[in-house]
Amino acid sequence: MEKTSRIPGFYKLTVKERVKKVKEFAGLNDEEESILLSMDGLDEKTADRMIENVIGSMQLPLGVATNFLINGKDYLVPMAIEETSVVAAASNAAKMARVKGGFKAHASEPIMIGQIQILDAKENAVEELNKHKEEVLELANAQDKILVSLGGGAKDMEVRKLSDDMLCVHLFVDVRDAMGANAVNTMAEACAPLIEKISGGRALLRIISNLADHRMVEATAVFDRDTIGGNKVVEDIIHAYEFASLDPYRAATHNKGIMNGIDAVAIATGNDWRAIEAGAHTYASLNGYKPLTTWEKNGDGDLVGKIKLPMAAGTIGGITKVHPMARISLKILGVKSSRELAEVIASVGLAQNFAAMHALATKGIQDGHMRLHAKNIAVMAGAQGDEIDKVAEIMASEGKIRMDRAKEILDEIRK
Ligand code: NAD
Repeated sequence: MEKTSRIPGFYKLTVKERVKKVKEFAGLNDEEESILLSMDGLDEKTADRMIENVIGSMQLPLGVATNFLINGKDYLVPMAIEETSVVAAASNAAKMARVKGGFKAHASEPIMIGQIQILDAKENAVEELNKHKEEVLELANAQDKILVSLGGGAKDMEVRKLSDDMLCVHLFVDVRDAMGANAVNTMAEACAPLIEKISGGRALLRIISNLADHRMVEATAVFDRDTIGGNKVVEDIIHAYEFASLDPYRAATHNKGIMNGIDAVAIATGNDWRAIEAGAHTYASLNGYKPLTTWEKNGDGDLVGKIKLPMAAGTIGGITKVHPMARISLKILGVKSSRELAEVIASVGLAQNFAAMHALATKGIQDGHMRLHAKNIAVMAGAQGDEIDKVAEIMASEGKIRMDRAKEILDEIRK
């Protein structure tokens, strides 16, 4: 039987029942199931190896978004995030996208850029460096035999003149399934002395660029007009998009919503979400700060969304195989390469953006969000155990989801 991520009523199941469904979907073993159910994926020794001065671990809830159909394949998408509504919104948007075939996504080759800053080079340094390009690439590739054996490695070099006394050499490195920072930084450091010799200058910084604009991913989806509420909703979402494209104050929030989805998948899979954030926002600002998505109406009157951004995410390296939850998340996703992971992440970003725009252009986001957030408000007001659900339910039914009301209800319950 074909696997499907369309699991009606998934949200109504208990945690244990959900884990069982995910186990069946992804072929998890008993150990992975018990790691998920332990709610404590990181042991002391692993944590102590990962960073310095460890005193504990900071937990985030791990959810899975359902309904994702991307390039004809079904995915359950693990998302680690503290914010209510995000997982529900992604699942909902993905459900609506399924009506017209889900998401179509494409990631470019995984090319990252290493930068070597050169000061006070000789007059003809650019010419000399270009002449010795193959020599530099060969030295870079000698640093990572594994990467080269997999078809990756340093592929090209470019010299940029930034000012009269500053050059910058870019190494273009195919990092295959890694995020690539360590691989690229090692190459940049190793090549610097040779670049100094050729250019007659002094190499100062030797480091990856997080503007990964040679490692781009695009995703698109068609949202059926009638499914999303009719022509007015389609047009209002387009007006909402125009607002973001005209105004950086709005674009910042528009893109933040996209990153809610992107970061949650990046965190779940053990990826460096600061690197992805840095790449996304720098790319968004290349021609004045712009939204990372575009929205338009097609000939059938349906809404078409597109997302395009750099995506330095890996399925190997970093902590992807070290953190047990990252390993399990990657197994749940079942992605075979960093490119496939990028395609999933971009689709989630697009879904998240659709969900936010749909809510904002119709009834506003506070209704749904505050209903889900009610439990947090109840906890803030001091509710414990069963009281949390009771206080949250009463506040939701009254439509008054506020701290003062939570305190009053709690007093009444306790009396
Ligand atoms: P890594 O060095 O842990 O792993 C990459 C290596 O794995 C490759 O160099 C290769 O030798 C090997 N490998 C085996 N199979 C592979 C495959 N199929 N595809 C690619 N490589 C394969 O990790 P990395 O991805 O080079 O570095 C990622 C880490 O660097 C992250 O933890 C990140 O936080 C950190 N970092 C980021 C920055 C930055 O973004 N500015 C700077 C420094 C470090």
